[in-house]
Amino acid sequence: MARDLVAENLRLQKQLAQLLEQAEHNQQILRRHQAFDLQFISAGSLRELLDALFHSFATAAALDTITLSLLDPEYEIRRMLADLGISQSSWPQLLFLEEEAEFGELAGRLSHPLLAAYREQLHGPMYPEPLRPPASVAIVPLRRRGQLIGSLNLGSGDPRRFMPGMATDFIEHRASIIAISLENVINGERLKHIGLTDPLTGVNNRRYVERRLMEELGRSRRHGHALSCMYIDIDHFKKINDTRGHQAGDEVLREVAGRIKAELRLSDALGRFGGEEFVVLLIDAEMVDAVCVAERIRQSVAEQPVRLASGDTLAVSVSVGVASLETLEAASTVETAAQDLLARADQALYKAKADGRNRVVGAA
Ligand code: GH3
Ligand code: MG
Ligand code: MG
Repeated sequence: MARDLVAENLRLQKQLAQLLEQAEHNQQILRRHQAFDLQFISAGSLRELLDALFHSFATAAALDTITLSLLDPEYEIRRMLADLGISQSSWPQLLFLEEEAEFGELAGRLSHPLLAAYREQLHGPMYPEPLRPPASVAIVPLRRRGQLIGSLNLGSGDPRRFMPGMATDFIEHRASIIAISLENVINGERLKHIGLTDPLTGVNNRRYVERRLMEELGRSRRHGHALSCMYIDIDHFKKINDTRGHQAGDEVLREVAGRIKAELRLSDALGRFGGEEFVVLLIDAEMVDAVCVAERIRQSVAEQPVRLASGDTLAVSVSVGVASLETLEAASTVETAAQDLLARADQALYKAKADGRNRVVGAA
């Protein structure tokens, strides 16, 4: 009898130890997941959030593939990525859909997570090349205020990791955190964008160009590449306003901004500095290259008259001053170097005006 009790006691003690161990283990998992919730929620940019999701989280949760399908009917998120200099090819895990119907057979079934064995026909589009197709998947809807905004697609090489009938509350919790975080960073990027854009022309504003100039000067100092700057000013713009009206002046500003932009590379920066003045930063361009681009801009404005909404056409021209950063004196700060570069481009512009306008002048 006593021996039975001892045995029973030992068995219970062992069971208790196992339960404690399990509880400890669960506690650890919970803590790890809470750390991820925090990391997602506090992500300060879209890039940071994607990085946390596709790298840190995928590794920690031992998931072989995570992809994110986002509904982006207006191309707004894709444009945002382009503005941020993030190429879509660097994130093959990021997928865009124009409408819910593109979920195929899964559309309309995304009211809750779908756990299943991987089926090429059904899930293939969510795990495109060069990603490896998983063995089991969890397609988790992302919703904000009742609206489907996309899906989080988890994939595992283990066919038993995701099976129909498994509990999904953990996954759903994670998805709601990710949906909120996504909305948060997208709104943040939207705000940053508005703060750095000129509403009239849609090109960047002065604040953006000044900030970029500092960054580029720092980069140029570290890597020794060239940097040029041009100051562009519309000729006799006041007369356009006075004779055709302020509205026509605005139309000319938009058209000229578009023509300048068309001559630039994606890596260059264009900003409206105020009034009818634009500044362009040409990255990795020496004086000769910059003068060449400036000449192309001058021609593209002067060659084709601007057609106004009223149907009238108007001959417009610009003068351009170009300055180049040949050497950055080690002693100068980036602030003084930036001021110096802009001032030299402005002086060259002044000379272009004095020499008769509709021309390009390179700073001495
Ligand atoms: P110059 O050939 O020497 O550059 O002569 P300009 O007439 O172009 O130069 P000025 O700087 O005297 O005139 C710039 C004008 O641009 C004056 C201002 O009323 C006008 N302007 C500034 N901002 C805007 C704007 O947002 N829209 C319109 N339509 N006009 C603007
Ligand atoms: Mg001016
Ligand atoms: Mg002017």
